[in-house]
Amino acid sequence: MPDETKRSPSDRIPYSCQTIDDSDIAAVTKCLTSPFLTQGPETAQFEQEFAQWVGAKRAVAVSNGTAALHLTCLALGLDNDGLVWTSPISFTASANAARYAGARVDFVDVDVNTGAIDPAQLEQKLANASSANALPNILIAVHLAGHSFEFNKVAQLCADYGVKLIEDAAHALGAVYEDDASLKIGAHPLSAAATFSFHPLKSITTGEGGMVTTHSEELANKLALLRSHGITKNPDVMRNKHPNDGDWYYEQHDLGFNYRMCDIQAALGRSQLARLNSFMNARRMHANRYNALLADLPLILPAKTDASSWHLYAVRMDPTQSNLTRKALFDHLRALNIEAHVHYIPIHTQPYYRELGFNPGDFPVSQEYYETCLSLPIYPNLTKVDQDFVIDSIKDAFPNA
Ligand SMILES: *Cc1c(COP(=O)(O)O)cnc(C)c1O
Repeated sequence: MPDETKRSPSDRIPYSCQTIDDSDIAAVTKCLTSPFLTQGPETAQFEQEFAQWVGAKRAVAVSNGTAALHLTCLALGLDNDGLVWTSPISFTASANAARYAGARVDFVDVDVNTGAIDPAQLEQKLANASSANALPNILIAVHLAGHSFEFNKVAQLCADYGVKLIEDAAHALGAVYEDDASLKIGAHPLSAAATFSFHPLKSITTGEGGMVTTHSEELANKLALLRSHGITKNPDVMRNKHPNDGDWYYEQHDLGFNYRMCDIQAALGRSQLARLNSFMNARRMHANRYNALLADLPLILPAKTDASSWHLYAVRMDPTQSNLTRKALFDHLRALNIEAHVHYIPIHTQPYYRELGFNPGDFPVSQEYYETCLSLPIYPNLTKVDQDFVIDSIKDAFPNA
């Protein structure tokens, strides 16, 4: 039986959880008593430190990860004649961003082992689309769970067919490319940009927040313009400024948004970024422990890797080895206050996307991945006692293992 001596049975164990300490509280408090709550020095500092941490030339902070995707699509020229591809196993924002721009969306099926975009299926779909003169403008590829997708293959295919590549790196802050471990995700010169989220369950948090990294100065400047109404105060680019116009003068050059990050959020982000390495070490340690201690169970475990940021620890059921259903395991854990989760319901099966013409059977590998996956609790402050309780509880669910 699980050892419950050091924990109360009512203690809930979420699948993920933010890590806030006194230094975060001090950073936010300091900002609150400063002259600027937004558009002050903290956001620019956070951008600089983030770009440096990742190894990208520029980082542009925005209000959330969805806004990061939306603005990057717009800054790359997407409009209502456009077409964006992504894969069904992601949060719906990966597809919604294209719909905000009025573009059409289609999907590329995934690799059942990882849930990430399958380069072989991408290659086939690109070849077909090329013959039909229906290539997408943009591919949004997702680093699912914090594991790098097969970047070199995907980026090469995008280059061959003239498709712009956006990395949805919402899960992957702190990870490196599987194909090139010397590069942190967000720093690759072969994608147009990478987008991040600072929702509390991601690698670091600002409450709500997001970031775009890119090596393109032009793209970064466009993003900075669009996140603040399309308004500029840069004297070098003014179109109609008159000698009698003073320092109040500004011009709106595009239809932008208020997608800014405020300085209170950025102050928290800077404080969190300073501890990102320790968060990553803790997540890797938890993942390695799961991999070792669940190895004898009839479950398919994620590949052991230190390249991942381990945003999720996702196992898959193996129907050839056990009759226990995913639902039964999920319910068993929920009854013990262990909040396992499922990532993700395939986007194309959502009622909104079905109304656009997609059918549940359109992407069968995504469906198979979805029906078998289960995310176990992983977050920096997961205690050994709680992790052991999760492991023992899973073992209890497999009576014959
Ligand atoms: C969290 C997430 C987003 C959206 O980020 P928000 O900050 O919540 O808007 C986009 N894509 C993926 C894969 C995510 O997990």
